[in-house]
Amino acid sequence: MSEVYKLIIIGSGPAGFTAGIYSGRAELKPLLFAGEKQGGQLINTAMVENWPGAEKGIMGPELMMQMRKQAEKFGAEVIDKKVSKVDFSKRPFKIWVGGEEFQAEAVIIATGAENRMLGVPGEKKLLGKGVAVCAVCDAPFYKNKKVLVIGGGDSAVEDALVLTKYADKVIMLVRKDVLRASKIMAEKVKNNPKIEILWNSELKEIVGENRVEKVRMVNNKTNEEKELAVDGVFLAIGHKPSTEIFKGQLELDEKGYVKTSENTTMTSVEGIFAGGDVVDFKYKQAVTAAGMGCMAALDAEKWLEKNYV
Ligand code: NDP
Repeated sequence: MSEVYKLIIIGSGPAGFTAGIYSGRAELKPLLFAGEKQGGQLINTAMVENWPGAEKGIMGPELMMQMRKQAEKFGAEVIDKKVSKVDFSKRPFKIWVGGEEFQAEAVIIATGAENRMLGVPGEKKLLGKGVAVCAVCDAPFYKNKKVLVIGGGDSAVEDALVLTKYADKVIMLVRKDVLRASKIMAEKVKNNPKIEILWNSELKEIVGENRVEKVRMVNNKTNEEKELAVDGVFLAIGHKPSTEIFKGQLELDEKGYVKTSENTTMTSVEGIFAGGDVVDFKYKQAVTAAGMGCMAALDAEKWLEKNYV
């Protein structure tokens, strides 16, 4: 029989690592599965200017590395592997990483959310060949090129700004006539001479054999279609929760987010807690995710005290 951990945390974004810090300090010796790429969405973010305490800003990967070290300092064991299956039907709860089985008395789910795709022809085929989801990672490949950014939220605006450091021209394709992004970020793109915004515009197709060559788009007000030659297409149209492995195990809402009960982080299964973007479709901030990770750890600690003296 394998060791039964008091607490297993699944996920390594701000929610997961904060849960690791709190439960580590509570001497629960948590085991944290970080996935194959630790750090959640902030690992793909450049400068984070709204993390309280980091007055001068902090780079996303640096912030995540600090969180990991802080969790490890307090006794969290971090494994850089991805959970493939869970069984929450009875206690101890079971968690598999490939063929390896782990058991826990309580679990915190902090698996976050992933990039949404458009589903247009050419997108899948050209992913990694000009179609990209991470400007911070891929922008240097577009030196002196012309790129398109899809979306009008903070991610799209941030991607467009990162790309201006390399590309000659950045065109934002926004399906409405306003940006959803925060005002301060929206002003930055509007004032950047390298960025052009095409309003009321939607992508129809990405064309290319082995590389992106051009796109087909439509103006959703006039129905006018046009083609545009570009070297890259960066998708920044939001996220979907990473909850595939929890289907049938926990109650999820219609969009796939984990449901928690009012005023607590407890899910539909007693002993399973959740926090961060996997739960939150509204705020989606690193600091709110971290807050929810803290709440989940405190809830789990209390629940463990009550149920496993
Ligand atoms: P958002 O959901 O905020 O924005 C998604 C954008 O993509 C919207 O403009 C939306 O258009 C557009 N969109 C969605 N689906 C489609 C589609 N099928 N075709 C075309 N356009 C589409 O996602 P973000 O990833 O930008 O941001 C998520 C959260 O993270 C936000 O709360 C944001 O503030 C935060 N964030 C903060 C950052 C920071 O502080 N540094 C950096 C990045 C994100 P529409 O408006 O029409 O719905």
